[in-house]
Amino acid sequence: GSQYLDLAITPADTAFGLMADFDVDTHHNKVSLIAGAYRGEDGKPWLLPSVKKAKQYLSDTIHEYLGIAGSPTFIHLAKDLVFGPAASKLQDNIASVQTVSGTGANHLAATFLARHLRPNRVFIPGPTWINHKSIWEMAEVTVAEYPYYSPASKEVDIVGMLDSLDQAEPNDVVILQACAHNPTGVDLSKSHWMQVAEVVRRKQLFVVFDSAYQGLATGNVDGDAWAVRYFVENVLAFETPPGLCVAQSFSKNFGLYGERVGALHLVVAPHLSAKGARSELMNIARAEYSNPPRFGASIVEMVLGDRELRDQWKADLETMSSRIREMRHELRLRLEKETQQDWSHVEAQTGMFSYTGLTKEHVARLRDEFHVYLLPSGRMSVCGLNKDNVQHVAHAIGEVMK
Ligand code: PMP
Repeated sequence: GSQYLDLAITPADTAFGLMADFDVDTHHNKVSLIAGAYRGEDGKPWLLPSVKKAKQYLSDTIHEYLGIAGSPTFIHLAKDLVFGPAASKLQDNIASVQTVSGTGANHLAATFLARHLRPNRVFIPGPTWINHKSIWEMAEVTVAEYPYYSPASKEVDIVGMLDSLDQAEPNDVVILQACAHNPTGVDLSKSHWMQVAEVVRRKQLFVVFDSAYQGLATGNVDGDAWAVRYFVENVLAFETPPGLCVAQSFSKNFGLYGERVGALHLVVAPHLSAKGARSELMNIARAEYSNPPRFGASIVEMVLGDRELRDQWKADLETMSSRIREMRHELRLRLEKETQQDWSHVEAQTGMFSYTGLTKEHVARLRDEFHVYLLPSGRMSVCGLNKDNVQHVAHAIGEVMK
């Protein structure tokens, strides 16, 4: 009967809901610190000069379908970008397909692993990008949270994290954000990564690296891929863990949010072939969306494949990441003046986001009284700050904390 389709309305996505509220707010001083999308000093979306040039070269681009696995050239360049020099050694035991951006890569990984690895549980960071939970729930895998962030220390809860992963069983999945952790801005140190690798190896866990910010955390694409490369060399190489994969997004580091450019790289142990896994990933892709979008991948392919454009892109990453760092510094100075408290965490964090430590009551007052919007968790998108609004934001925070 029709009652099957009489569904309850579920709460709207918090961030997208707030953005809609922001859009209808008519106050002249309103500030959006909601979305994880880069903004320039003028508060507007920024077209990367490298991307702008590539688009000019692509003006006569064709509009045919890509193959099911996407563009082979794009895949090759994407793989090199994340794995670096190790990529050539991984020829036969890596399966890579182009995806519908990072979200699609996470989803394809979940669908594939739920069917073929059959983990008891997937361990996601507490807190994490909210879509991790939804994606894995839809894949019908039990979701467990490992402690990641300690609000008290404003640092990684490494002891809690290791203890929790110690409870996992062989073939369980662990989601690790490769850099610029969303929503906290707090990353593992190298020695933390080594400790996590040790547990992963000992417990035979399957790691899904979510890499959505390569190059945007520090401006250095190789430095931001350090953890992924460390795991490939030190976890996969010498025992028999089930494998690992990398869900790679080009939304943020190319400013190609709407084009949906990404890739999934599935790495199996050195003695195995990934050919069967690749064909199964293609089966899933074929049934879900047939083939990935072409235009954004053509842009990325052109930029990464051309020496001059690639150098320009690296400069663009420096432009974005250094502006974010500068805004962290400016905000910290002003907050310390306004509140007489320590705000060093704002400057120590990396990437687009800052877990400010503000409560949901603070956040509500910021919106209602000062037209400053951030997520109820206290997550601030630092990209929304600029020289014109940073003082207003700091003052508003000072006022709501009185
Ligand atoms: N993973 C993380 C951690 C993210 O923050 C995001 C974007 N907010 C994504 C994946 C996916 O973004 P997209 O689908 O645009 O690549």
